[in-house]
Amino acid sequence: MRQRLVVGNWKMNPSTLEAAVDLATRIARIDGGPIDVGIAPPHVALARVREAIGGSAVLVYAQDVHWETEGAFTGQIAAPMIAGIAAGSIVGHSEVRRDQGDDDARVARKAAAALAHGLRVIFCLGESLAQRRAGETDAVLRRQVRDGIGPLDRERATPSTLAIAYEPIWAIGTGEAATAAQATDAVARIRDELGRLGAAAGAFTVMYGGSVTGANAAEFAAAEGVDGALVGGASLKPEEFAAIVAAFR
Ligand code: PEP
Repeated sequence: MRQRLVVGNWKMNPSTLEAAVDLATRIARIDGGPIDVGIAPPHVALARVREAIGGSAVLVYAQDVHWETEGAFTGQIAAPMIAGIAAGSIVGHSEVRRDQGDDDARVARKAAAALAHGLRVIFCLGESLAQRRAGETDAVLRRQVRDGIGPLDRERATPSTLAIAYEPIWAIGTGEAATAAQATDAVARIRDELGRLGAAAGAFTVMYGGSVTGANAAEFAAAEGVDGALVGGASLKPEEFAAIVAAFR
C-alpha cells in the first residue's frame, strides 16, 4: 500500500506573513486521517508557519532548494538552512525549470542535496503542450525520470523520502486539468521507467498536479496509480483544499 500525499504549493502567495500564518493555521485543522498532508509556503514564511502550526501533522515543504550547501548563490536557499524547519522540498517544478533554467541534471543535484540533509523530496516532472502534441510525452517523462531521478543515491531516495509529482505543464494554473486516464497513463510510464532504473517502482508515491480542484479531485483519487495531488491555486482556499484532501482519504 503506497502512502497517499496531498500537498499545497502556495507559489508566491500570499503576500503577507500574517496571511501565510492564517492560511497555515486553517489548513492545520484539516484531518488527513491516514494520508499525508503538506503545504509549501514561500521560503520567507517557512519558519513562522512551522511555528504557528505547532504539533500539527501537516508537513511543511520548501518550494525549492539549491544543490550547494552554502556560498555565493544570491537569492537561493540551501538544504541545511531548511532542514530544521521543513520536512522536505519540492524540486523540479516547471515554473522553476522555466524561470531559473533548471534542467534534469540540476534538478537531480537539488534532489540529492535535499535527501543528503534528511529532507523529503517531491520531484516534479511533466511534458509541455507542444511535446504532448508532438507525441513526445513518453520520451520526455522517461528522460526526466532517467536524468533527474537516475543519479540519486538509492539508499537515500526511497519510497519514504521521494515522491514524484506528474505535472503536465499545460494543466498547471490553466483550469484545464488532465483527464484521469491521461494521468494514469503518464504515471504508468513514470513507474515503468523507475523500474528500469532498478527502483522498487511500485512502492513510490506518484501524485498528479495541474488544476486539481475540489470538484475534480475525486476523479484523480480514483485514478489507478495516482497516489495524491500537488495543488497550486486551490490550496490557497482552505475549504477547497480540505475537499481535495477528503477525496484522497
Ligand atoms: C502547481 O503549482 O504545482 C499546480 C499544480 O498548480 P495549479 O493547481 O494551480 O494548477
